[in-house]
Amino acid sequence: MTAIELRSVNHWIGGKHLPSKSTRTSIVWNPATGQPQANLDLADIDDVDHCVAVAKEAFHSWRATPLSRRAEVMFKMRELVDANRRRIAELLTMEHGKTVSDAMGEVARGLENIEFACGVPNLLKGGYSEQASRGVDVYQIRQPLGVVAGITPFNFPAMVPMWMFANAITCGNSFILKPSEKDPSVTLYLAELLQQAGLPDGVFNVLHGDKVAVDRLLEHPDVKAISFVGSTPVAKYIYETGTRHGKRVQALGGAKNHMLVLPDADIGMAADAAVSAAYGSAGERCMAIAIVVAVGNIADPLIDAITERMAKIKVGPGMEAGNEMGPLITREHRERVASYVDGAAKEGATVTVDGRSDASMNSDGFFLGTSLLDNVKPGMRCYDDEIFGPVLGIVRVKTYEEALRMINDHPYGNGAAIFTRDGGVARQFQFDAEAGMIGINVPIPVPVAYYSFGGWKGSLFGDLHMYGPEGVQFYTRSKVVTSRWPDPSSSKVDLGFPQVR
Ligand code: NAD
Repeated sequence: MTAIELRSVNHWIGGKHLPSKSTRTSIVWNPATGQPQANLDLADIDDVDHCVAVAKEAFHSWRATPLSRRAEVMFKMRELVDANRRRIAELLTMEHGKTVSDAMGEVARGLENIEFACGVPNLLKGGYSEQASRGVDVYQIRQPLGVVAGITPFNFPAMVPMWMFANAITCGNSFILKPSEKDPSVTLYLAELLQQAGLPDGVFNVLHGDKVAVDRLLEHPDVKAISFVGSTPVAKYIYETGTRHGKRVQALGGAKNHMLVLPDADIGMAADAAVSAAYGSAGERCMAIAIVVAVGNIADPLIDAITERMAKIKVGPGMEAGNEMGPLITREHRERVASYVDGAAKEGATVTVDGRSDASMNSDGFFLGTSLLDNVKPGMRCYDDEIFGPVLGIVRVKTYEEALRMINDHPYGNGAAIFTRDGGVARQFQFDAEAGMIGINVPIPVPVAYYSFGGWKGSLFGDLHMYGPEGVQFYTRSKVVTSRWPDPSSSKVDLGFPQVR
């Protein structure tokens, strides 16, 4: 296939598909076949500047639109996404590779954020203090920021944009989405749905691109805030560069989530959870379980139960019903993940199951079977690094304290889970663990939309977590008004500092 036969993926600016002014493009691959499937426009500085100007123009009338009208658009969007769940799931599977059933879960979790945004007017209510001083009232209001941008990762091409734009738009901002260049098309379908829902053109825009586009968004004076989700080195760069340019930034980074299994845990349940959370979506989830910390003598029976379940996982194209695990996102990423299995053996870990010998590796797609590494220890690259693939490490420790120290010493702190039947220890873990999201007998504790999502340590740069109430806070700023209506005849000059009288 030559590049000329591929479909083109353009930007969405001002309510229509718009080809780039730049001539730079990149290939969108089909991970299940290993073939190119589209040519993606990559924005240059002129494209970014045009998009920001369109979004800025749209902002003025959108922020003046009554709150209930803004919420009404989200109500309609909720209906449209609900009616088109499968279409959205298939679109994203085509480019991401995850199974359609997994993609349906992604759409469902994204939809929660649109539902939450329908209630944003309630959260935008300010406070009012009557008679703060004699004849003086004080009240607080929350106002939108202006043009805000979201930069999103490949692994949740529909859900993470929904985490951002639902609240941002309903709060009265206009939004520029810079999706991952690896699986960008689903965002254009969401843009069409927003238009059908009645969103005025220019309030939601999709700008495709790479570092050139991101860097321009980071420095553009009319972009007031940046939400980012992606790997930790890029998150740190986005946070430092964006804040240096005076922007509000929330930048969510990578992860290495631990699952602590105590000797009293139900082995079958813990093994089900570990296998589901480690290999679901081929391990390409920021809330995937990457390390099981087995305390005491539970390690051997737990590993037996895990390997028994691993053998039954069906690896294959995500579009084919019955498959449970699809390919990795690119050939390069597959090679990188496989190199960790190689490296683990050299560093002294035991490769109990080697995914590189899986039959799926014979196809042209970017498949890699599931791997299990035993006797993993801090200091090994397979323990320290985020691998982001279907590789689960087992660390054996003697005590709860040893396990906790390990979790708290790790530079990432997105999620951490404990499996036990002892409520007291579970509560202590919730108190002690240095991670932003804790699961108690729950391996992937992604908060529901009316809480907020975010990690600690190297998993988040910025002050506010994403979506939920903290999302509303992020996308608005507070203004406090002090007012009085005195009789002008009582007015006089008073050079003293105002105080309560
Ligand atoms: P990535 O960091 O490579 O890319 C994320 C976004 O940043 C993309 O839109 C990309 O175009 C852009 N980008 C990449 N390099 C850049 C650079 N040098 N300068 C400016 N922009 C750049 O991440 P990815 O591979 O798409 O996604 C996987 C990563 O995202 C994993 O580390 C995963 O843990 C993380 N993630 C975190 C969360 C979370 O909530 N904490 C959620 C999903 C994914």
